[in-house]
Amino acid sequence: MTATIKQLFSSLRGDFKGDLLRPSDHQYESARTIWNGLVARSPGLIALCADVADVQRAIRAASQHGTLTAIRCGGHSLAGFSTCDNGLVIDLSRMREVSVDADAQNAKIAGGCLLGSIDTATQRVGLAFPSGVVSHTGASGLILGGGTGWLTRRFGLSCDNVRGFTLVVADGSIVRASPKENEDLFWALRGGGGNFGVVTEFDIQLHPLNTVVLAEGLSAEVKIRPLLQRWKDFMTEAPLGLKWNINLRVAPDNEKVSAEFRGKPVASNALLWTGDATAAQRYIEPALSMCSQSISNRTLSFTELQTMADSYFPHGQRYYTKSGYFNDLDRRSIDHMIDALGSAPSSEAQIELAYLGGAAAKVASWETAFGDRSDPIIMNLLASWSDAAADAENISWVRDLFTKLQPAMKPGVYVNFMSGDEQERVPEAYRERWDRLVTVKSHYDPNNFFRLNQNIPPRKS
Ligand SMILES: Cc1cc2nc3c(=O)[nH]c(=O)nc-3n(C[C@H](O)[C@H](O)[C@H](O)COP(=O)(O)OP(=O)(O)OC[C@H]3O[C@@H](n4cnc5c(N)ncnc54)[C@H](O)[C@@H]3O)c2cc1C
Repeated sequence: MTATIKQLFSSLRGDFKGDLLRPSDHQYESARTIWNGLVARSPGLIALCADVADVQRAIRAASQHGTLTAIRCGGHSLAGFSTCDNGLVIDLSRMREVSVDADAQNAKIAGGCLLGSIDTATQRVGLAFPSGVVSHTGASGLILGGGTGWLTRRFGLSCDNVRGFTLVVADGSIVRASPKENEDLFWALRGGGGNFGVVTEFDIQLHPLNTVVLAEGLSAEVKIRPLLQRWKDFMTEAPLGLKWNINLRVAPDNEKVSAEFRGKPVASNALLWTGDATAAQRYIEPALSMCSQSISNRTLSFTELQTMADSYFPHGQRYYTKSGYFNDLDRRSIDHMIDALGSAPSSEAQIELAYLGGAAAKVASWETAFGDRSDPIIMNLLASWSDAAADAENISWVRDLFTKLQPAMKPGVYVNFMSGDEQERVPEAYRERWDRLVTVKSHYDPNNFFRLNQNIPPRKS
């Protein structure tokens, strides 16, 4: 333990209500790990905060001692920002309260909530919050970066559904941000990530929804190009209630997949309908007819939808990602994607393609820090593997494919799908909103205390 961490521990231990874990404590090892096994760091101290006052204490003490500080909600930062070596982790995992007002269709969620904590509470009264697709993801990091998921087309991004934030800023004070309070901060928090403080409570808007229709199908390698060429035209005309995600990958060897496709490149299609149930098949069937094999077409609960991908993204596996937007997919890009599947270093590597548009695209670029939503196709190249000896080849696979695809991409990147080695792309994520974000950052965090994130540095004074 460094001298600074010893001093930090001594100054916190008197009043801190949660637990302060040092490397010698038995809970430390499990508290140290984050979701991405590629990022294994050893903080000097982990502050498991019990409440907002603990968050204030931790921020004030770390600031006074000049301690590098990471903020952790669900620990799902792909980039690994929610941990650090030798510094402090402010861990919010004990702050997971959700309080739902069914009549007003809103909820207050604490800063440590996972997506599943929100769904469990809101589904009890038949309401849903538009968030991400894996229930063990942390809600705070996801919402602050933007938040895309199954309901994005229907109800907008997660950040579009926030009515107010309560946060502890760098000087330890509590600040509210809403359309009527600190409007610039309210704007910045909707897409600007964890740059401005620790959000301890989000005031979120909910929507009535408990069942959905989901159809899944596989398209054989020869059908991938025509499928992707028709996808955009189809989605341009589709109603908000339809979401169609396509994952390009090598088909797994399991009984759901026809024997002829196993081990070969395929497009895995997931079509979700959240509109009027009687109209579902009118939109799903034409899309499903573009698949070579239909796998399912059924009604399921929103909770089942939100948890069905959980086991595909296990904690501790190694992950590397790169992301970008397309307005359309040209033939050359599609060919690069299909070719890359042939050389994928692991069967879990995938090219995730989601078509946004819909309600998300109705929000103007200046309304939130998240910005422009006019390029509807968001791509995420995701490598996933377990053996550290395979790090280099998996990371190279993502980087090489990204380099080939980049000329056809549109400027911009979604901060939550970036890796930890992409700091130079952060201005690209915010483009014309950069100066305004720097102004807000300079006001609330002039010394860049919150810097373990896709960082927006404050102006030098
Ligand atoms: C399995 C998986 C599935 C995903 N699916 C989706 C998806 O469907 N849609 C989508 O949009 N994204 C998705 N993502 C990306 C996700 O949005 C980001 O990884 C996000 O950072 C996760 O949030 P977290 O709270 O778990 O992050 P953490 O790792 O806990 O924190 C990451 C960063 O967020 C900030 N932060 C966290 N909590 C707070 C807080 N309370 N106040 C201020 N700053 C805070 C800090 O800067 C911190 O460094 C997914 C990621 C994973 C790993």
